[in-house]
Amino acid sequence: MDQIYTPLVSVRNCRQAYHKDSSADLVVLDDVDLTLHEGEIVALLGRSGSGKSTLLRIVAGLLKPTSGEVNWRGSPLKGPAPGVAMVFQSFALFPWLTVQENVELGLEALGVGREDREERSEEAIDLIGLGGYDGAYPKELSGGMRQRVGLARALVVHPDLLLMDEPFSALDVLTAETLRTDLIDLWMDGKLPVKSILIVTHNIEEAVLMADRILVFASNPGRVAHELKVPFTHPRNRFDPAFRQMVDDIYGIMTRRKAPEIHTTTAAAPNPFSHPLHPVGTNMMAGLLETLNSQPYNGRADLPALSAALQFEVDELLPLGETLSMLGFALLEEGDLQITDTGRHFAEAETEDRKDIFAEALRAHVPLVTEIRNVIDQRSNHRAAAVRFRDQLEDYMSPEYAAETLRTVIAWGRYAEFFEYDEEAQQFSLEEDDEAEHEE
Ligand code: ADP
Ligand code: MG
Repeated sequence: MDQIYTPLVSVRNCRQAYHKDSSADLVVLDDVDLTLHEGEIVALLGRSGSGKSTLLRIVAGLLKPTSGEVNWRGSPLKGPAPGVAMVFQSFALFPWLTVQENVELGLEALGVGREDREERSEEAIDLIGLGGYDGAYPKELSGGMRQRVGLARALVVHPDLLLMDEPFSALDVLTAETLRTDLIDLWMDGKLPVKSILIVTHNIEEAVLMADRILVFASNPGRVAHELKVPFTHPRNRFDPAFRQMVDDIYGIMTRRKAPEIHTTTAAAPNPFSHPLHPVGTNMMAGLLETLNSQPYNGRADLPALSAALQFEVDELLPLGETLSMLGFALLEEGDLQITDTGRHFAEAETEDRKDIFAEALRAHVPLVTEIRNVIDQRSNHRAAAVRFRDQLEDYMSPEYAAETLRTVIAWGRYAEFFEYDEEAQQFSLEEDDEAEHEE
């Protein structure tokens, strides 16, 4: 009866690095261990860019890690794992196929005959609450229903392991909640034709609501920093004090101050292209600093409390807090946000002064802004194409993060009046009066 003790999946000493021609390899996962057993729901919780999707692809056998072992039921995995199905954030449905046809796709690949296909896809469609919509096209469905199709398509193959990559994050709060509850209800009733679920999320509450076990992922490079068992039975109540406490504790773990980051290169100058920026707007920052600086917080607040007060989603607040801390406006410690002198100064300043304070913070902490400004200054026409910066960012991060980082730096640089940006030409340029100065 070996079978019982053999985990479904085990990943050992897994490392994933992307080769970059122009710079040192980007290490995305370092020394990751992960074990999944039948009968459990495991959440992989981590910030954007921490390597969660990469690890998911490794578990599914879609990506061979740079080094390390992946075993399925005790045997080394070579190629796509049998018995795995994946649900994506983006639903990934074919618009020209009906619900039923989309769901059947997974079975066609397995060579299941037509009648069986129809029967099994109908079963999956009914199970997930889409009965009657078999003939509908994706564009006729709401986001929540589309994701149900995504789920049905994964479930129809009766996978041993269901992998879900931020499956609810494209949905509105209520729809996401309904879908989570429905999924957990089916799981508890033993109606889901799967043996184990691995869900990737950056939402702490979602992890505590759904999982039996939570792996907290640290970034740069990604590794499992903490493992927690969730002791609550289903249905879980997010207002239960013990539940709140656990969310709080995880906040603390995710914001624990690390030892100063060890940079791999010895170069003294910070690399302007190696750090992705969170897409956090200056209005949001100003709003949060004002709130933090006033009653009842008077400069220090517990993040979950702030999130409730501001009606932010929990997972919107962490990037915001991290950004404020990166810019020197606040300190993020053990789940608390503490305003700094600079942050207070900003919160109490008038609009024009705020821009100056923000510009100062960018100069001190965001070398990318300075780099862009230097390039514009060096050009005789005082213009520079965005694409060159995006290419340089892509040496260190995926195209999606590079694009997001660029959008963010454009918004921040404009606010601080470092440069102008022409959306149509996709070019940076100087502010009008700056240009006049240069021509004198
Ligand atoms: P998450 O899912 O946690 O947001 P990802 O696994 O998507 O993180 O990405 C982790 C890191 O790996 C990011 O810095 C991303 O930019 C980088 N990355 C992902 N895929 C590639 C790739 N194909 N080439 C280079 N870098 C990549
Ligand atoms: Mg991802």
